[in-house]
Amino acid sequence: MTDPTTVLEEIEAIFAAHGDARYSEVVTQRQHALQCAQQAETAGSDSALVTAALLHDIGHMLHKHGPEPAARGIDDRHEDIGAGWLAKRFPPSVTEPVRMHVDAKRYLCAVEPDYFETLSLASVRSLELQGGPMSRHEAAVFEALPYASDAVALRRWDEGGKVADARTPALEDYLGHIRASVVSGSDVAPH
Ligand code: FE
Repeated sequence: MTDPTTVLEEIEAIFAAHGDARYSEVVTQRQHALQCAQQAETAGSDSALVTAALLHDIGHMLHKHGPEPAARGIDDRHEDIGAGWLAKRFPPSVTEPVRMHVDAKRYLCAVEPDYFETLSLASVRSLELQGGPMSRHEAAVFEALPYASDAVALRRWDEGGKVADARTPALEDYLGHIRASVVSGSDVAPH
């Protein structure tokens, strides 16, 4: 059983160390995470999906490629790094939307012709590195996966979480959702 207090301390330490790093031209990693979590909460999501939204880019704060790797032509695979870290602490309802949030962008660009227009410059740049929009077949396969709809919802919040000077709750305000997600994680993957 994962100890929720330890997980909360680990997450607070990661945000303390890397949360002020730039996510984009206008928001930090912390601001982006909080804006995503806020949208998830406003949408009435359960604790697992709010936690997934909050932590979906934790891989950006864990990898060793330095700031904005996509600008230098590097795909940091942050979705896999983040999901791998989370899978030792949370159930699939948290980890899978995180693992799938990059593919969800590739999916949305394939099935919604206007979606590409909503992407930030950085997301357009990384889309190339990540394989571009899905083919029809890839999109059909993606759609049938468990957690695909959660991943798509998370992706839309991701796009919406890049607003300069937005007011959000603080990280501390989401600790209850994180704790609830860890505690409910009886099916945490053994590692
Ligand atoms: Fe993001």
